[in-house]
Amino acid sequence: MKVQMVDLKASYINIKNEIDSAIQNVLNKTNYILGEEVNKFETGFAKYCGVKYALGVANGTDALRISLISCGIKEGDEVITTPFTFVATTEAIIQSGGVPVFADINPATYTINPEEIEGKITKKTKAILPVHLYGHSCDMERILAISRKYKLKIIEDCAQSFSASYKINGKWKKTGSMGDVGCFSFYPAKNLGCFGDGGMIITDNKRIYENAKMLRDHGQYDKYLYKENGFNSRLDTIQAAILSVKLKYIDKWTNIRNKIANNYKKLLGNIVIVPEVPGNCKHSFNYYTICFQNKMERDKTQKNLLSNGISCQVYYPQSLHLQKVYRNLGYEIGSLPVSEKMQNSVLSLPMYPELDDDKIDYVVSKIKEIIWR
Ligand SMILES: *Cc1c(COP(=O)(O)O)cnc(C)c1O
Repeated sequence: MKVQMVDLKASYINIKNEIDSAIQNVLNKTNYILGEEVNKFETGFAKYCGVKYALGVANGTDALRISLISCGIKEGDEVITTPFTFVATTEAIIQSGGVPVFADINPATYTINPEEIEGKITKKTKAILPVHLYGHSCDMERILAISRKYKLKIIEDCAQSFSASYKINGKWKKTGSMGDVGCFSFYPAKNLGCFGDGGMIITDNKRIYENAKMLRDHGQYDKYLYKENGFNSRLDTIQAAILSVKLKYIDKWTNIRNKIANNYKKLLGNIVIVPEVPGNCKHSFNYYTICFQNKMERDKTQKNLLSNGISCQVYYPQSLHLQKVYRNLGYEIGSLPVSEKMQNSVLSLPMYPELDDDKIDYVVSKIKEIIWR
């Protein structure tokens, strides 16, 4: 049996008629750049997230870069973030002129540990960039308290957490709606994926929204008049039309992902470490990530899964502070021990709404061939 990490074909086939007619509709109108479908999707997305503004951009990395610049990040400003994330997070900080400063993670949630943040704050610190990894919200209550105390901006990386939420002051808030800005990716394998690249910025701040809107379109504030050096970073009309169709199904799909996660937990919970979801979080399970006691167990299991036709992936095999590209930041081995331990212990399993029980049982059986406690 073959089991993929995600099944993009199955996802398309299930809603093929709706998707095809949404695409055909754009082809008939040929309004490929900033057509009305972009605005329609932005409105629906903002409503879903419970914020005032949403702005479609070309991809998740640009969402981060444009948000950082719109929040005032400039040459030499320090941005505190996690080392345990996709490289785009830090790439965007550097593209904005900022300097990434890494704070270690919480081993239970793989997200930035609020206790590690304060010790990293200097006179140059301007912002915190929490990443809601795998679909699990960061501990936002404590991160927001730190940002208020030190007057820091919060840019949330929600590329893996669309539809996840966090309870704060008794109210459920979608990830991305708690800080100054939230940044999303519609890369095909994300929870809300398009048929190419796409991204979104959300905010309640009108000034940030208007600045970002100008930056995504070459810094243009009126036809052929420019105030700032901007980018070509718009969300395609065709992608927006596809995403509007998929947005209607997102709660249904997230519920199924949570059912699959419960199933995995029931079957694997006493063999490996499985994700625990605290009462103040609703996980969106972009990835289902398990944790082993050591690298040897993890690597042996991964090898067995792969050789039996099961896709699985280590997110991420090298913590960013140890990457060659960031040698100039001056981090040494041992400086962020939790992140360094997790890079050797985690493994993400197949996870998508169309994953059926037979496939789950097959994945579990191939893990049990290696690990049995
Ligand atoms: C996917 C991802 C991004 C980048 O999104 P793109 O749309 O691929 O540019 C940024 N941060 C994280 C954590 C991601 O997983």
